[in-house]
Amino acid sequence: MNVLVINCGSSSLKYQLINSESEEVLAKGLCERIGIDGSAIVHQPAGKDKITTEADMPNHTAAVQLVIEKLTDPEVGVIKTLDEIDAVGHRIVHGGEKFATSVVLDDEVLAVIEQCNDLAPLHNPANLIGINSCREIMPNVPMVGVFDTAFHQTMPKKAYLYGLPLSYYENYKVRRYGFHGTSHDFVSKRAAQILGKDIKDLKIIVCHLGNGASVSAVKYGESVDTSMGLTPLEGLIMGTRSGDLDPAIITFIAEKEGISAEEVINICNKKSGVLGLSGGVSSDFRDLAEAKAQGNEAAKTALETYAYRVAKYIGAYAAAMNGVDVIVFTAGVGENNAEARAEIGDYLGYLGTNIDSEKNKLRGEEVILSDEGAKVTTMVIPTNEELAIARETVRLVRA
Ligand code: AMP
Repeated sequence: MNVLVINCGSSSLKYQLINSESEEVLAKGLCERIGIDGSAIVHQPAGKDKITTEADMPNHTAAVQLVIEKLTDPEVGVIKTLDEIDAVGHRIVHGGEKFATSVVLDDEVLAVIEQCNDLAPLHNPANLIGINSCREIMPNVPMVGVFDTAFHQTMPKKAYLYGLPLSYYENYKVRRYGFHGTSHDFVSKRAAQILGKDIKDLKIIVCHLGNGASVSAVKYGESVDTSMGLTPLEGLIMGTRSGDLDPAIITFIAEKEGISAEEVINICNKKSGVLGLSGGVSSDFRDLAEAKAQGNEAAKTALETYAYRVAKYIGAYAAAMNGVDVIVFTAGVGENNAEARAEIGDYLGYLGTNIDSEKNKLRGEEVILSDEGAKVTTMVIPTNEELAIARETVRLVRA
């Protein structure tokens, strides 16, 4: 089965065409600046170079049309006709409390997803536009929605409720939802598989450390806690997001700077995290490591503060699960950044992680970092959200 995986943002659309039997990526790409001047599609067939084509994309339907054109192009395409796309899997950011699992998309389901829009006003409407564009162009192809929040719907009330008046939860569904669920699910299952153990016997802490970052506690295969909240702003210090804050800071800064609370939240999302802490050096960990090596104190402090926050969450989740068997690092920083892992690992000795500093130098591959016989196994597992979405799509379409 060929599955087209779509991840649609407000002005971008990422795609991968995956053969579900071989799990091979046949082609992938990105449409940028949809609805804005200077839009372009970057298309890459497997094993070949990227091809960038400037093309007019007034809306997402035009972008999807262009993706199909590239995929079926006699020169750079990988399929002959649209008929060779058997299903489409869509990444959807917020499923609220309505979706605890992936779902086949039809009119009824789309109306329910729309009800979740106020929980993710920047992301969900864009996801829906992508879905509708695909349905317009491929009306007979089955479509599946895979939610970032779904995996965390197993969290108990004590983990997802905020210490606020209960009416805010009852009336507005203000609670913690968590994100990156597809990744936490994929990586925790893969960890059990690599170790040859049943996931139902394992307490796993997954550290998804990318530009956006979250930690989750996966107990016996279910998410019981995670660091992101109502929105992806809570939890870890990230590339540009602040993570946990005293909420009183919002109005305090708003008053001092003469700006609105909304503007402060925007700063917390886009100008904070390691970017803000480093005094604007970068949100990219490679740049920060370089600046630190050149003696930049703020960059050094940003990296220290980042690692400290991750270590605190690991400690909290070991407590929440009354123990931990496996700690997994994944996503851009978790997979590639040996220094960040080492800095976090320095706090974990008490758990019995015995991280081997030589093994920790490896990057971008599956590796067990701990010495054999360590009490807690620490590993690196590259995440693959697109493959997870393709697998879910096949499972639901076959069912
Ligand atoms: P993601 O959001 O998962 O794509 O992760 C992006 C982050 O991963 C960026 O902050 C990058 O600095 C970091 N990253 C990616 N590759 C490397 C690398 N080779 N070494 C260090 N950090 C990396």
